[in-house]
Amino acid sequence: MTLIPGDGIGPAITDATLRLLEAAGAPLDFERHLAGMAAVEAHGDPLPEATLASVRRTRLALKGPLETPVGKGFRSINVALRKEFDLYANVRPARTVLPASRFKDVDLVLVRENTEGLYIGIENYVKVGDDPHALAQSVAVVTRAGAERVIRYAFEYALRHGRQRVTIVHKANILKCSQGLFLETGRKVAAEYAGRVESDDRIVDACAMELVMRPERYDVIVTTNLFGDILSDLTSGLVGGLGLTPGANIGIDCGIFEAVHGTAPDIAGRGVANPTAVMLAACQLLDHIGDDARATRIRTAIETTLQEGRTVTRDVGGDAGTDAYTDAVIARLA
Ligand code: NAD
Repeated sequence: MTLIPGDGIGPAITDATLRLLEAAGAPLDFERHLAGMAAVEAHGDPLPEATLASVRRTRLALKGPLETPVGKGFRSINVALRKEFDLYANVRPARTVLPASRFKDVDLVLVRENTEGLYIGIENYVKVGDDPHALAQSVAVVTRAGAERVIRYAFEYALRHGRQRVTIVHKANILKCSQGLFLETGRKVAAEYAGRVESDDRIVDACAMELVMRPERYDVIVTTNLFGDILSDLTSGLVGGLGLTPGANIGIDCGIFEAVHGTAPDIAGRGVANPTAVMLAACQLLDHIGDDARATRIRTAIETTLQEGRTVTRDVGGDAGTDAYTDAVIARLA
């Protein structure tokens, strides 16, 4: 599979993750390729053809955070990857791990539609009188096929991971066409899984309130692009922030796994970054290829280390560096 170490803290936290995978005996053979600023410096291109060709071949990548260079001519790497590999489902688990966490017993997975909705990019201004920006419009596009594939992914995910319920989150009471189609499609797919996976639906605003009041009631959530973008940061916040949150981008026959956070330029090169999110992204990758037992072993070691709280990084209240924390996790591998 492909390894993109990334920029800023990326190389340090992906190296830590490789060390952990090796200690856990994961049979993963990585091809290293550059993207982001590292690739601009080496090849003058933030997403070199060799990197794309590697992912085309391997169909699996573990990716560190990338700095998208600001300036003309550089495309957003994440958007380019999402388009190239049609990564239609963004999968973000959120689980209470830290003992001091304000929210107990959170253990949910948010599946966000990643290619349509309001983020499809159909936007324009309309000039009225002298004001070229007098009116602005952004079009939300939901297709039956696009809704069906991501909702089906959520139900299949629930089945594979022994989860009980999928909640379809929408705003069909107001956006009757686009959100209505998402909900209608969701209910049809849900009916196919009746007896195997429970399902219900929630209006997005009610869901946001309930996620803060009773987050433990949620199991798998599936929703459209904008709502998923917002709610997935909310669910990350419930369990301790972006430093602990992994995300998988899933296509028909391709998966790119990464931390949700960025390159953390303020702490890059200081040996203090928390590698947990990339480690958990690697666990998602192992789940994806059917190596669930090893993923569970690694997650248990991470959770034990975080719960003990003795050798953890600064962002979660400790004073250990990246290497010492990684050693502590490795020492707890059962
Ligand atoms: P950031 O997530 O890099 O940092 C926000 C804050 O969180 C910083 O204080 C940082 O030190 C801290 N932090 C983040 N990850 C941490 C970790 N693992 N351990 C300890 N502390 C951590 O967000 P930003 O500063 O807005 O973005 C910096 C760069 O990252 C930008 O160039 C942005 O484009 C890029 N970015 C990339 C991705 C991606 O590739 N998926 C995602 C988000 C941002």
